[in-house]
Amino acid sequence: MQAEIISVGTELLLGHTVNTDAAFLGRELAALGIDLHNVTVVGDNPGRLAEAFSEAMGRSGLVLVTGGLGPTLDDLTKKTLADVLGVSLYEDPVCLEQLKEYFGTRPMSANQITQAMMPEGATPLRNRIGTAPGLAVEASSGTLFMLFPGPPREMEPMFLNEAVPLLSERLNATIVSFMVRTFGLGEGMLAMKLGELCEAANPTAATYIGAHNEVFVRVTAKAATREEAVALAMPTVEEVKARLGDVVYGVDVKNLEEVVVAELAKRHEEVATAESCTGGLLAKRITDVAGASGVFRTGLVTYANETKTRLLGVPEKMLAEHGAVSPEVARSMAEGVRRESGADYGIGITGVAGPGGGTEAKPVGLVWLALSTKDGCFVHALRPQGRYPGREAVRQRSASKALDMLRRYLTGKPVIAE
Ligand code: ATP
Ligand code: MG
Repeated sequence: MQAEIISVGTELLLGHTVNTDAAFLGRELAALGIDLHNVTVVGDNPGRLAEAFSEAMGRSGLVLVTGGLGPTLDDLTKKTLADVLGVSLYEDPVCLEQLKEYFGTRPMSANQITQAMMPEGATPLRNRIGTAPGLAVEASSGTLFMLFPGPPREMEPMFLNEAVPLLSERLNATIVSFMVRTFGLGEGMLAMKLGELCEAANPTAATYIGAHNEVFVRVTAKAATREEAVALAMPTVEEVKARLGDVVYGVDVKNLEEVVVAELAKRHEEVATAESCTGGLLAKRITDVAGASGVFRTGLVTYANETKTRLLGVPEKMLAEHGAVSPEVARSMAEGVRRESGADYGIGITGVAGPGGGTEAKPVGLVWLALSTKDGCFVHALRPQGRYPGREAVRQRSASKALDMLRRYLTGKPVIAE
């Protein structure tokens, strides 16, 4: 099946919005083994949009459209498509019900109700995040049009949860995918280790760059039934895990912090944090996980040397001799917060987030991390590599690395990766 994408929105043409919807759909189509041939961006203009629809219908079996499904006047995607297909719009009772449910006791204006209008013959796609439902409708030519709202946080889950099952049916196959999540290796190195696995057709394996220095490998398989697709994918998932080793922190898990919280909960253990340059980011990320209260004892942000001494017992002499950004102080912070809080693990972070404040001996981006456990303290440096990635990236990377050290300890892997 040959596919194309039509992104609707004048803001995309003006460069006010980056077309991340098309990027997402492009990656997803590749993972599904569907060839993508064109991406078109059209402004909020019914004439040009109708032209784009007609052209797409003439050459593609699948047309994914994003944007212009909302309640405002410039949202004309549905009306325009109905005109091109030569069908009328009707008010879909199920969509109307879902809209009413969304608004609850709040009043709903007439233009909100237009969102329940569907072209004759369409299958609505449920929007579980916002108001505008999507839809799938087949033209008499056989072309399948799928319409999605523009906001990525609505479009992405709608595509994965509502559209992919419909596409599977159409492809006469069930598609399953597994996300292998890794931390600590760059995408290039990862792809090299995966080698020919990334070139296979079914299952496919593809790498994605995630937030906070993480890389994911998505394994997707297509087969007649779900069982067969899973059976087809599993050996590749196992092979990916075997080739990547202990940088893999989970399959189909959400993130490092979730894995760490789950591991701590399993062991009925607690962690406490003492942060300097990350300013509480590590504590924030741990407490973002529901259920963190059972495993997170305390988090201190000891920015000034005086508080490192008073709250954590870091010796003044050590601070004077080695400076705050040093392996000695990171260790003393980790041990101090573990001792003072009574938690099973203490984490200390101290570094130079930049952009200012670097010296030759302690350059911007140098961060010392320490993990204090009953088996002793593990200390590790994150060193600047190449161009300075910015304050936020240094902080996120430091928090991720600290989480990864604890994840490694809890799962019996070497705490400091080679
Ligand atoms: P809404 O109900 O929010 O109006 P909609 O389907 O009408 O949804 P648009 O009005 O076209 O969508 O766009 C709404 C917002 O979604 C845009 O302001 C932009 O932030 C985001 N958006 C739209 N299209 C894209 C795209 N292709 N890539 C990334 N973001 C997009
Ligand atoms: Mg809109």
